[in-house]
Amino acid sequence: MSKHTLGPVRLRVAPSPTGDPHVGTAYMSLFNLAFARQQGGQFLLRIEDTDRARFRHDSEQQVFGMLHWLGLTWDEGPDIGGPVGPYRQSERLDTYAPYVRKLLKSGHAYHCWCSPERLAQMREEQQKSKQPTGYDRLCHGKSEKERRELPGFSETPVVRMLIPDDVELEFDDLIRGRVSAPRPDDQVILKADGFPTYHLAVVVDDHEMKVTHVVRGEEWISSTPKHLLLYRWLGLEAPHFAHMPLLRNTDKSKISKRKNPAARLTWFVEQGYLPEALVNFLALLAYPPAQDAQGKDVEKFGFADFARDFAWSKVNPVGPIFDLKKLEWLNGVYIRDLDLGDFTSRLLPYLERAGVLSGNPSLGELARLKSVAALIQTRIALLGESVPLVAPFFVADDQLVIADDARADLGPDAARVLDAAIHALGDIDDHLLDLVAGTAWNAAALESTLRATLVDGLGLKARLAFGPIRTAVSGAKVSPPLFESMEILGKTSTMARLHALRATL
Ligand code: GLU
Repeated sequence: MSKHTLGPVRLRVAPSPTGDPHVGTAYMSLFNLAFARQQGGQFLLRIEDTDRARFRHDSEQQVFGMLHWLGLTWDEGPDIGGPVGPYRQSERLDTYAPYVRKLLKSGHAYHCWCSPERLAQMREEQQKSKQPTGYDRLCHGKSEKERRELPGFSETPVVRMLIPDDVELEFDDLIRGRVSAPRPDDQVILKADGFPTYHLAVVVDDHEMKVTHVVRGEEWISSTPKHLLLYRWLGLEAPHFAHMPLLRNTDKSKISKRKNPAARLTWFVEQGYLPEALVNFLALLAYPPAQDAQGKDVEKFGFADFARDFAWSKVNPVGPIFDLKKLEWLNGVYIRDLDLGDFTSRLLPYLERAGVLSGNPSLGELARLKSVAALIQTRIALLGESVPLVAPFFVADDQLVIADDARADLGPDAARVLDAAIHALGDIDDHLLDLVAGTAWNAAALESTLRATLVDGLGLKARLAFGPIRTAVSGAKVSPPLFESMEILGKTSTMARLHALRATL
């Protein structure tokens, strides 16, 4: 095992740009970064784009965007450079060649000319006869000329590792202690297209980039013995390893982008999760909450708190369940703790995307939005939920659409209720001077007037009395608090909306 006792720690995250960034990339980045920051070391971003078949051009920018959104910042990377670049594997192809030559020369690696068809057939036969699958070493020890004479020859060879019989299968893991992995077969390290496989590239790059701690998903445990062999054969010092537990769906299956929308980081933005809540949640997935003086769990914490006390020994190696209900709860806690101005501005992109507000709202619109935001801040768990609640405040009175379920629920007294409300509210003035007299158009005056008129006057239960009013002003069964909403809308709009619904009954 290595001894990186001197010099700063250097950690990295190494996503493959194969589509929408995976939530696992954020989770890995978070744990890598926490340790790097705590130790005063560096955190690198490396793009592992050697799998050309799955490469997606826009994916790299999305990775940058999502990590920035989460506030998980890197010190070196393809966008900002650094002393050990390039930070994209596809730009490092020349780097790998001498390592491959060295391994071929020392006999630890060999050329393999087997065609994909031959390999498939070999595997099928192994499976049929219940033998362990793995390369049968047909090419090992043969020259190109000798191999050419045998069936299943392909012109361009790959290079494979020659895994020795006594390969060390155990290694130390910072989270798991002593770990044992299954025996590998003769892994391809250089592909026919000239690109290294992950296994060679990761070792060479982590060495050249002076990475001291490799922190990655537990799916790589079985590859670590191969990587340790490469370090040994190449005469390089191996880094420390920590294999993080994989995130799992509630049915314990691995989170995949095909099956779970929450595997895509962009989904969290779309829904209206706050980045700081997601970071907090990702930390909690594999890390215990701190305790307060009374011994109670403190589940809400920021990155700085997390990094300050971070210890690998506290990471729980058991696959955490990705419980979206818990995240939603936590997001609600974060939303309620925002100051009103901050909360209001975080709503803007959602309202703009839904067409409720333009990208350039006026001061008047912003002031109104802030008043509405104050009404909904305790009522939503996701920023996206604000859209239907805010929209009625920014629609012209004659454009307000009454939702079908709200209309169906109006009840038999709706016409009576609206007539009485229109009559009573008509007497409340909305001039500034009336503020002084305490009779102005404000929530308290509206509530006492409507209660006196509808509940006491008409003898209706509150729900039946106020339901039609709510539907008239918001178009929906659910809205922010009614009297405050009417205050914000003002007298002219409110009266127009009451009249409009009445006219349809
Ligand atoms: N490209 C690999 C992945 O996306 C990186 C694994 C590692 O960190 O070594 O999982």
